Parts: sequence; structure tokens; C-alpha cells
Amino acid sequence: MVEGPRNVMEDLVKKAVNEIAPEYPELCICNRCQVDIIALTLNKLGPKYVVSSQGEIQARVELAGRQPQIDILLAVRDAIEQVVARPHHHRL
Ligand SMILES: [Zn+2]
Repeated sequence: MVEGPRNVMEDLVKKAVNEIAPEYPELCICNRCQVDIIALTLNKLGPKYVVSSQGEIQARVELAGRQPQIDILLAVRDAIEQVVARPHHHRL
């Protein structure tokens, strides 16, 4: 069984979704909608794969910069707004 590579962007996007989602009380909190938001965001931003812990540290430092952080936050907000406007399931 091959392990890795790890997509550092996935961690950062999940963390950002957890932080930002509470700002949208109209957002459905079911697992499907959370996963939709994460997938939409990751497809837009693209992956950041690493194969070693040293590579991961370097990638995290790069992605902590001002512009990458802005890009991540904007992409998460866009994805949340898409899912709010059109959830991929019928509301109960
Ligand atoms: Zn939902």
C-alpha cells in the first residue's frame, strides 16, 4: 500500500471552511453540503502535494503568505455562496 502524497491544500481548505461556515447561518450544515464546499474550493485552487515532512513545512510556510491566504478565503466564500444558493439536495 502506497502512502501519500499528501495534499496540504486540503487541510487548509477544511480548516478555513470550519472557520468561515458559521458566518453563514443560512448554510446547510449536513455532511454533503460541507463536502460540496470543500470539493468546489479544492477544484478551484488546485492541489498542493507534498511527499515529505520537510516539503510539507515549506508548503505550509508558502501558503501562509498574504496572497495565498486571500485566495483561499475568497475561494471558500465563493463555494459557500454557491452551495447556499443551490444545495445539491432537497431541503428537509
Ligand atoms: Zn445539506
